Amino acid sequence: MIITLKKGAKQKEITIVTDKIKSLGYKPHISKGKDITIIGMIGEYAEKYKDVFEAMDVVEHISEIQKPYKLASREFKKENTVIKISRNVEIGGKKIHVMAGPCAIESKELMFNTAKIIKEAGATIIRGGAFKPRSSPYAFQGLGEKGLKYIEEASEKLRMPTVSEAMTIEQVDLLSKYCDIIQIGARNVQNYDLLKAAGKQNKPVLLKRGMATTVKELLLSAEYILSQGNYNVMLCERGIRTFEDSTRFTMDLNAVPVLKKLTHLPIILDPSHGIGIREHVGTMAKACVAVGADGLIIEVHPCPQEALSDGPQSLLPDQFETLMKELDLIAKAIGRELLD
Ligand code: PEP
Ligand code: MN
Repeated sequence: MIITLKKGAKQKEITIVTDKIKSLGYKPHISKGKDITIIGMIGEYAEKYKDVFEAMDVVEHISEIQKPYKLASREFKKENTVIKISRNVEIGGKKIHVMAGPCAIESKELMFNTAKIIKEAGATIIRGGAFKPRSSPYAFQGLGEKGLKYIEEASEKLRMPTVSEAMTIEQVDLLSKYCDIIQIGARNVQNYDLLKAAGKQNKPVLLKRGMATTVKELLLSAEYILSQGNYNVMLCERGIRTFEDSTRFTMDLNAVPVLKKLTHLPIILDPSHGIGIREHVGTMAKACVAVGADGLIIEVHPCPQEALSDGPQSLLPDQFETLMKELDLIAKAIGRELLD
């Protein structure tokens, strides 16, 4: 249930409510709006304590969240969540952030060179996987911790935050040391122990929708992370499986307005995996901005024909540079910003 406090509630009064919630064996989740503080008391049978809180002076009213996901819902938090990443990057505000880089970190040189290219084109976050969830066990699996050192070095030199994927709980711990955003990939969106681990550390999480995950299931997966106390979750649409086989996946752009209505969390779109065909990635990226993305994640490789992972969908540097200018025009047309 949601406990809405009276306007101007003081910290002392907030603490009385949160202490009471804790004493009943629940975890309080605080959402501070401009004037109003809301406290979520979430968990089985929370409603039976409604009277206890209704009797408190500082409490304005109590309501129940009807949706199965609670902290992720707009009922819990009306304003869009703006996530502070390191180095002054904020996701969920007016500016649309572009995360770009190779699918996999392949070498120190490739990581740095690609990061430099995408920075010059206006991207603000470096992407690169060190642990790769490949369909074939014989395909390149990523450089592991060595790769993380390379992306960290590129981040330091170029002063840009980074995003990289964790596939296991141990990798969550490792990534939280090296990267600024932890990506949970499509294949792990319902790996609940992994989600809990991502919720127990404090780096922001980029949660990708699975290829057979409904919007509701995606929100419930986000709820796993939020319920552990990490409220910095971005949702990422990256294409779903349909009967259509002329593209790698089917980018579900419908999910964007639907999610925006249901949740306050920022929405990131991944046109690279969504369509999987280099020639069409730019067109879909433009649609992603037009439909309301708060950020994009795009694969770029200086020499895609030699890429160890996802070469066919990776943009060439000059394609990326041209695309960024086009994306900026679309962003401006809908009242957003993209390039500085
Ligand atoms: C990736 O970002 O390279 C990746 C593996 O993404 P997804 O989990 O969406 O397939
Ligand atoms: Mn990839």
